Parts: sequence; C-alpha cells; structure tokens
Amino acid sequence: MHHKTIAELSKELAEKKISSIELTRHYLDRIQRLDNKLNSFITVTEEYALEAAKKADELRAQGKAGPLTGIPIAQKDIFCTDGIKTSCGSKMLDNFIAPYDATVVKQLREAGTVMLGKTNMDEFAMGSSNETSYYGPVKNPWNPEYVPGGSSGGSAAAVAANLVPAATGTDTGGSIRQPAALCGITGIKPTYGRVSRYGMIAFASSLDQGGPLAKTVEDCALLLNAMSGFDERDSTSINQPVPDYTATLNDPIRGIRIGLPKEYFTGGLSNEVAKAIEAAIEEYKKMGAIIEEISLPNTALSVAAYYVIAPAECSSNLARYDGVRYGYRCENPVDLQDLYKRSRSEGFGSEVKRRIMVGTYVLSAGYYDAYYLKAQKVRRLIRDDFVEAFKKVDVILSPTAPTPAFKLGEKTSDPISMYLSDIYTIAVNLAGLPGISVPAGFVNNLPIGMQLIGNLFGEAKLLNIAHQYQHATDWHKRIPEGY
Ligand code: GLN
Repeated sequence: MHHKTIAELSKELAEKKISSIELTRHYLDRIQRLDNKLNSFITVTEEYALEAAKKADELRAQGKAGPLTGIPIAQKDIFCTDGIKTSCGSKMLDNFIAPYDATVVKQLREAGTVMLGKTNMDEFAMGSSNETSYYGPVKNPWNPEYVPGGSSGGSAAAVAANLVPAATGTDTGGSIRQPAALCGITGIKPTYGRVSRYGMIAFASSLDQGGPLAKTVEDCALLLNAMSGFDERDSTSINQPVPDYTATLNDPIRGIRIGLPKEYFTGGLSNEVAKAIEAAIEEYKKMGAIIEEISLPNTALSVAAYYVIAPAECSSNLARYDGVRYGYRCENPVDLQDLYKRSRSEGFGSEVKRRIMVGTYVLSAGYYDAYYLKAQKVRRLIRDDFVEAFKKVDVILSPTAPTPAFKLGEKTSDPISMYLSDIYTIAVNLAGLPGISVPAGFVNNLPIGMQLIGNLFGEAKLLNIAHQYQHATDWHKRIPEGY
C-alpha cells in the first residue's frame, strides 16, 4: 500500500477500499519501525494525525471529500504549526511552539490532508546535505552512507522510503529540487510569489519558496493545487489565478521547444549524470520535442551572487533570535549584551554563524557597494539571461545536481564544494522562476535527477512536460531496497 501514489491512494479512499485512519496508522507504523535508520522526522504527531484522519473519514462519509482528503503528508519543520514544535532544524528553536499555522499548513489541512509530523532539515535551511541539522544528519534511503541532499533532506528521504506519500519543502537555492534528485523523487519549486511564505521561517526572503515533494509529477500537481494562491498576509504573494495543475498534465507536447544551456553541461558535471540527461533528451526527441542549444552566459556568477545575497538576507532575518522573546536563551546572563551574545553563540550552529558573519560583512558600510550592490546587479543579469532564453524556448532542461548523492562527511569541511551542489538550481531562485526535478536514471544504485526550468508562472507547462516524461519512463517507480 505504501508504494502507491497519492492519486492511487485517493482512488482507494474514494472507493472505500481503505479508510484514512487505516492509511494513517499504516504510515505511522512505518515511521516508528523504519525511521531510526533514516532520522527523517524531528517530530511525529501521532495523536494529531489520528484525529485529522478521523475527521477526514467523517467528511468522506458526508460526501464532502476532495482529492487530498485523508491523504497523509509531512511538513518540513520550517513551517509553523499551531501548538506543535517548529524547530527549523536548530537548537535556537528547539523549544519553540508556534502559536499559529503557516498558510501552507492551513491550506493543506483544509484540503483534508493528514499531517504525520515535521521533517528534519538543515539548520534554518542552510545546507545541501542535511548535515547542519541540530537533530543530526538524515541518511539517504538508497544507501545509508550517503546524504539525502538538503535542506529538505528529511522530506525527500521520508518520501523516498515510503514513510509518507508526500511532504512539503522549501527552496532558496535548490532545497526542494536537489534532495528530490538525490533521493529519486519528484519536487517542484514554484514561481516566487506563487506559494505563501506566511509562517514559513525566513532564511533569505527574496529567494525562499515552498513547494511539494512527492513520488510523481501528478502528485506534485495535486499538492500544488492546494498550496498555491494569493495570501494577503504575505506581501510578496502574487494575486494571480491558480489553474488546475492536473488538468493539463496530458496535453500533447509535440513541437515544444526545449533549451539546453551550454554552460550547464561543462565543468564539474559528472559523466554518469551527463549520460543520464542525454538519454532523457533522447526520450523527449522521441516525443516530438524540438531541442535547441541556448546560452545563459552569467551562469558562472550565480553561486557567488547567491552567497552574497542569501547571507545578507539571512543576517537580517536571523537578528530576531536574541534570547528575549522566544527561542533559546542562555543560562544566567550577567547583562543584556551577555544575553544576546551567549544566546546566539550557543543557539546557532557553525554554518548559520558563517552565513550571519558573511551577511553582516557584505552589508556593512564600505563593503555594501562592493559586494551587496554588485551581487544585486549580477542577479539582474542572470534574470535577463533567462528572459532572453525564454524568447526562444518553452522550457530549459538540465541536470538538477552535478553529481549523485555524496557520502556523509565528504563535503562538510569544504563549504565551497558543498555550495557547488546547487550550481544548476541557484540561478532559478535568483530569477524567481519555477523549476522541477524528476528522477532520470541511476548510477551505482544512487538516483540522478533531471531539472526542467519554466518561465514565470509556467508551472502548468512544466508539470505537463515532466509528466509526459514520467509517462514514458519508469525511473520514478523504483524503490530503495527495504522500503
Ligand atoms: N544549499 C543552499 C544553501 O545552503 C540552498 C539551500 C536552500 O535552498 N534552502 O543555501
């Protein structure tokens, strides 16, 4: 049963072959039995889940069920949940219980989903391997010696291991797409402003965007239907109608133009990943797509620009954690300075501190023009590259990450090599565009992901094109041994 997709489970629920209570118990039992090997959950909300499942079954009995009613999901522990711990993977928020639900949590609850718990993540979503979490690393279900990617590594591992049918993630520079790729599942980062950021703990506000991780494109479309839409509580939310993302999944794709950015197929790209992506391109050719080489000339600057802009924004966002109102507070502070200093030194981990230091540096008088302002200008150039590209093509195809999953500990002492894991995903956030990762092959039993990048608010087309690929291939159907 746990190998089924949301679309399949939804049908079983509708046909009364199973109840939401039974489904919920089944997954809770799997989490209890198997998650000690993976560490993908920070909090399991058993009682809350069973209560929600009961309500879902009642709604169904009254004929009031939608496609997601009674479907178990998990929330990345970055989304505030009323009355339930929201840690953001940090000691700083280990004792934090939000007094309200994030909009995404509310939307998914109102759509009838059943939250099983909160998933592990890199501290404040800073990382590409889930190794910066205060709660310890998450293991990749395909091989426990390897990382699941990050920062939504808990969500990706839990879905890949069938501990839950789907989970939410957030993506500031790749944190939905990269772990989806490394765990062999599907994940979409929507257009900036498509999904509300209200109640989603801020890392870098101009880049952060929530989205779903699931087994298939179709499941992502079902979840995105519920998660999208205008929210007056988020000033960057965009008031644009939400199409039914499932309605166009089977639109014909013959004649669509797919661009291959030549800058994405050089340098650090591993041969195995390149081969898998070439095979995917062949698959699209068979489906009648027109493949064109394009250029995104400022690609090489994207990681550098990101590691100025994201830390700058994080240093400002994380200034609120001062030991006064909520979160970690040091013991016996001698005065206010000591309270601030020790609460922050003891509450944050080293990657978060590194980012805060970089961020305050690039924003300081004298350096602002040289770093922050310059990075903002580069960001505009990167966006302009995409504007030019989308005059020629409908979508852009690339690898999601330059390599398959790497070993735990392999990159922890070399932050630059860790940062380069996001070389193909970061520009998408800088430009505010939607991007999806789908499974596209394996090397040594480790999954490889293909990324498709769309134009602003092009989620429907992106999902359509990705779904057609899943129709023709079965990489997304593989299951890690033991799960
Ligand atoms: N890996 C990138 C970083 O560490 C992106 C993280 C994310 O998308 N949240 O900042």
